[in-house]
Amino acid sequence: MRPTPPPGVFSGFRGRTASTSGGRRSGTGPRTGAGSASSGIPGTLRALGVRPSKRLGQNFLCDPRVARRIAGLIEDPLEPVLEIGPGLGALSIDLATPGRQFVAVELDFRLAEHMAMGLRPFPRARVVQGNVLDLRLGGLFPDGGRVTVVGNLPYSITTPALEWILAQAERVGRALLMVQREFAERLTAKPGTKEYGSITVFVGLNAGVQNCFRVSPGAFFPRPEVDSTVLEITPRPFPGTTAEERETASRMARASMGSRRKTLANALARGLELSADEARALLAEAGVDPVRRGETLSAAEFVALARTWLRRGRPGGGA
Ligand code: SAM
Repeated sequence: MRPTPPPGVFSGFRGRTASTSGGRRSGTGPRTGAGSASSGIPGTLRALGVRPSKRLGQNFLCDPRVARRIAGLIEDPLEPVLEIGPGLGALSIDLATPGRQFVAVELDFRLAEHMAMGLRPFPRARVVQGNVLDLRLGGLFPDGGRVTVVGNLPYSITTPALEWILAQAERVGRALLMVQREFAERLTAKPGTKEYGSITVFVGLNAGVQNCFRVSPGAFFPRPEVDSTVLEITPRPFPGTTAEERETASRMARASMGSRRKTLANALARGLELSADEARALLAEAGVDPVRRGETLSAAEFVALARTWLRRGRPGGGA
């Protein structure tokens, strides 16, 4: 049977946290029986002395249906899970199944303490207080094996968290991440569109990305201004590439798209500190038209460019 967390833990869905008066109101959260979840969350936050911090991206999920939907994407109840930023536990309550190894990393020490209390009934669950970006999966899950990473990601660390996940690809089965809709669109954009950028290429080189579902601002407290999207990200190398090729291709994508108005030859020359002639020679050898814009190149074309660069060695510097 599923252990029951003590009252007052795991957000405003249970126990003493429900409060219907005062506090900040999102006004649009779903009703969850005794008072709305959105009214429970302000009460819990007040009790903990937490004012939602923009810097920490503290928009708490207050729609349990969304939490259940995310947790439902993980079929195996024993699959080890890392949650980034559990906050008040809106997702954790569905993720910390009995028997599952579950680690939640929370930067805000008041929320981490609150979570530690909430996770007490789950012997294989624990909270680590700290910045997830300073930690490693090897330390959090020393027994080895692949982990599913889940998080309603704070906006400020969306890109670094994604890089963090993909830098440890050998330990990640997949990641289920709630991100701003615009960010999700960037990850799945096609070359030549305004959403397409170096982060699209980086992710395309290192993972498969799938849109799972969209979440409206009313599902959070405080209510954000933008929609969110839940993504499934599965680490996998771009077919036939080495780590060095992918790293170089990413670097070239960053260099090529640093200044959107420039032609590829000029942007590459500037970004890689080459002369214009060297940049043009590199592009000619890779079979890429130098007057194209960087944002029109596919991941495969950046791989071709990276291979040429690696084959030639740094111009003037031998192999
Ligand atoms: N998972 C909760 C939910 O869905 O309601 C909270 C999500 S809230 C968008 C982001 C959470 O991440 C906050 O609790 C915040 O304190 C925490 N956080 C922010 N930066 C962090 C970091 N670098 N490492 C770990 N947690 C972080």
